[in-house]
Amino acid sequence: MSVKTFGVVGAGQMGNGIAQVAAASGLDVIMNDIKTEFVEKGKANIEKNLSRNVEKGKITAAEKDGILSRIKTSIDLKDLQKADFIVEAATENETLKLNIFRNLDEICPPEVILATNTSSIPIGRIAGATTRPELIIGMHFMNPVPVMKLVEVIKGLATSEATFKTTWELSTKFGKTPAEANDFPGFIANRILMPMINEAVFCLYQNVGTCENIDTVMKLGMNHPMGPLALADLIGLDTCLAIMDTLYDGFKDSKYRPCPLLRKYVETGWLGKKTGRGFYQYD
Ligand code: NAD
Repeated sequence: MSVKTFGVVGAGQMGNGIAQVAAASGLDVIMNDIKTEFVEKGKANIEKNLSRNVEKGKITAAEKDGILSRIKTSIDLKDLQKADFIVEAATENETLKLNIFRNLDEICPPEVILATNTSSIPIGRIAGATTRPELIIGMHFMNPVPVMKLVEVIKGLATSEATFKTTWELSTKFGKTPAEANDFPGFIANRILMPMINEAVFCLYQNVGTCENIDTVMKLGMNHPMGPLALADLIGLDTCLAIMDTLYDGFKDSKYRPCPLLRKYVETGWLGKKTGRGFYQYD
């Protein structure tokens, strides 16, 4: 299936990154969120990223203008009627995502693939909210999207081979390397990553070490480019908690219980880098 217009639902840190790589690959993009200020913030972030790339000589000023001109913003989901392929990258909340998929299913032509960037919500459950389960798939980008090479492509039980092929090919067109996963809680990436981050939060909670020491051990001892607590701040502590809750609900195994300190930070509104305060403080 040929894709010319690419829709993105959610203009947050993942949504605007996905819009950027799609536009950079030559597609027209419609980037949707619920408020004008959110889409404007998303577009401003893309502009900032591209300007940095121009300064570094990675792209020309004309290429930057071309990419920006291909991204239209929208605060009405109905605008996505014009898209040939849509990725949903809204907040990691199951009720919210199921509503978005129900609405997209009504709005979009029946042949349009509806992908989700969810970190952990079962693809089958999302598919079940629509009348097109064979066209529902996970397209899980990594953060920051323009930099990270991986896209985890997740097949639900009902996902068709044609849907899988189109999603795989799009990932390659965006300059990414896809990896295939099946539909179990957390898929591959977060099934492995998030329990490690959660354990790092337990180390802080039980005063095994300070944030700095926990991160130093993992960076210098395990050769990780970032410590788990700094990475949690980058991902968003609300997203980390939502993923742990999904793993715990999905497997009913106590090894996936979220650390109470993680929940406390989220309840306090300390969500990490995006709110200026998480395990670390940001300007
Ligand atoms: P974010 O908080 O930065 O952005 C979420 C955006 O969704 C916000 O702008 C919000 O206004 C918007 N939104 C909420 N309800 C909406 C609706 N009904 N319609 C349209 N937009 C709506 O979160 P994020 O980090 O960009 O995460 C988005 C998704 O990507 C989540 O499913 C998350 O699990 C997944 N994800 C996140 C990361 C990460 O590192 N942060 C990595 C991979 C996948």
